[in-house]
Amino acid sequence: MRLSQLFGKTLRQAPAEAETAGHQLVLRAGLVQQLSAGVYSALPLGWRVLRKIEQIIREEMDAAGAQELNMPAIQPLELWQASGRDRSMADVLFHITDKRDRRFVLGPTHEEAVVELFKRQVRSYRDLPVIVYQIQNKFRDEPRARGGLVRLRQFTMKDAYSFDIDFGGLDVSYQKMFRAYSRIFERCGVPTTPVLADSGAIGGKDTHEFVYLTEAGEDSALLCDKCGYAANAECADFRKAPASPDGEQPLPMEEIPTPGIYTIEALASHLGIPQAKTCKAVFYSADGHPLFVAIRGDMEVNETKLRRAAGCVDLHYMTEDEVVAAGFVPGSASPVGLRDIRTVADDLVPREVNLVAGANKPDTHLRNVNHGRDWRADVVADIALARDGYLCAQCGSPLGLRRGVEMGQIFKLGTVYSEKLSATFLDRDGQLKPVVMGCYGIGVERLLAAAVEANHDEMGIVWPAELAPYQAHLVALGMDRPAVVEAAERLYGDLQAAGVAVLYDDRDESPGVKFNDADLLGMPLRLTVSARTLAQDSVELKRRTDTKSELVPLKEALAAAREGASP
Ligand SMILES: [Zn+2]
Repeated sequence: MRLSQLFGKTLRQAPAEAETAGHQLVLRAGLVQQLSAGVYSALPLGWRVLRKIEQIIREEMDAAGAQELNMPAIQPLELWQASGRDRSMADVLFHITDKRDRRFVLGPTHEEAVVELFKRQVRSYRDLPVIVYQIQNKFRDEPRARGGLVRLRQFTMKDAYSFDIDFGGLDVSYQKMFRAYSRIFERCGVPTTPVLADSGAIGGKDTHEFVYLTEAGEDSALLCDKCGYAANAECADFRKAPASPDGEQPLPMEEIPTPGIYTIEALASHLGIPQAKTCKAVFYSADGHPLFVAIRGDMEVNETKLRRAAGCVDLHYMTEDEVVAAGFVPGSASPVGLRDIRTVADDLVPREVNLVAGANKPDTHLRNVNHGRDWRADVVADIALARDGYLCAQCGSPLGLRRGVEMGQIFKLGTVYSEKLSATFLDRDGQLKPVVMGCYGIGVERLLAAAVEANHDEMGIVWPAELAPYQAHLVALGMDRPAVVEAAERLYGDLQAAGVAVLYDDRDESPGVKFNDADLLGMPLRLTVSARTLAQDSVELKRRTDTKSELVPLKEALAAAREGASP
């Protein structure tokens, strides 16, 4: 490819929208161009990388025994109603209606569609196990779409689905995908950490996310350096210890005046007690019903855990109107004396003795509130958010909070979908059974973004060998000199004939501009032809990862380039 003809120009300055070094480079190198929020075109250089990522994914999926197929983006709404995900994923579904008023969604994922395939294609245990996958466009009406390739409204995803006769079979399929994922990310030059995750709207059992740890990430994970425990902050467990000393005896409950005190911080400092000796009230609306949540004053509610504990789909903080309508007194709300309102307590609350809580009276709190004696929650569960420095549930060492970006996720779905959508098979005992499913996704564009983020220096991209859009970058200096042009053109032709993908900078630009672009674009090997190198019958070779270059005789340049450019 001649750089003079390449569709897509490099930029000296990153556009203002670029937030991270990686995103700046993606734009400066001319890999993609934004069409609207969360919607990007891939330019030729970026498209070559995306296709290489897809090829790596394809090779590893095929090696794991998965079969590639393709499913449509347009899916009947009824399928989503049958699975219930028209509601649980309502916030991201794109809806379309055809001219005959039939309603469809643009698939954000394909569990429903793949189950339809399964129902027609698989009858018997003899057809199982099977894993299928596709690499295909997905659509999410993403409210948080913004700059960058992480949170897109249209994106490419590899999604795979496994079907097994039982949970033992699912474990095997899951492990196959786990290993394939590790290899895919390694080949793409993106270090990932597998972390336990919450199965969220998809529903199911075990699930891992493969997270690329970076300060620029939107997700948070808690990691234990000692035992290797790693979990998404949405679901991380931690070791809890009561703040009340052993043997503390419950004292009689009493009202105390607390004028002008509305926060836990103010309450604790007013009374001279640790925040851990207070009980915080948080008001939620759960599927439209008021929910009173009690948690120790020094902790925060984890809404993913709370949603699970409360068994609800929609969960949000109450509005002021809802708080008043429910009869709560903000700043002094109390679980004591609550009637007809569902309550959830974090499991540490019943283990504490003599907490200070609200009195449900203005400017008043209650001292010595004890769960079980003075009130009793409808649900007691772990609903607390793990934080940096909290103790590992497995080994007791401090957990570290790290930010990152999810590159892929693998789920053990079990029979959630097969039961809802009646996907059964005839087992060897002649019984119809629901098939046991797993699903496995990788976002392709965000993998490109992470590959750039993880592989760059101050000059530009340093492509991992397997992702580089071209293996070699040929620079000709002095396009006004016939000898230079002739030697460069010959080398360009020879490299192509030898199967080396080469980007040839044949522009009439200064050495500074050409070298800067070569560093920015980041091909693994740079070859330079100039009057100076030709005076020694040579070509200059430089690896993108090296600071030094070497002169190689012209007649050996081809062999050296082939060797140097091979992954
Ligand atoms: Zn640990």
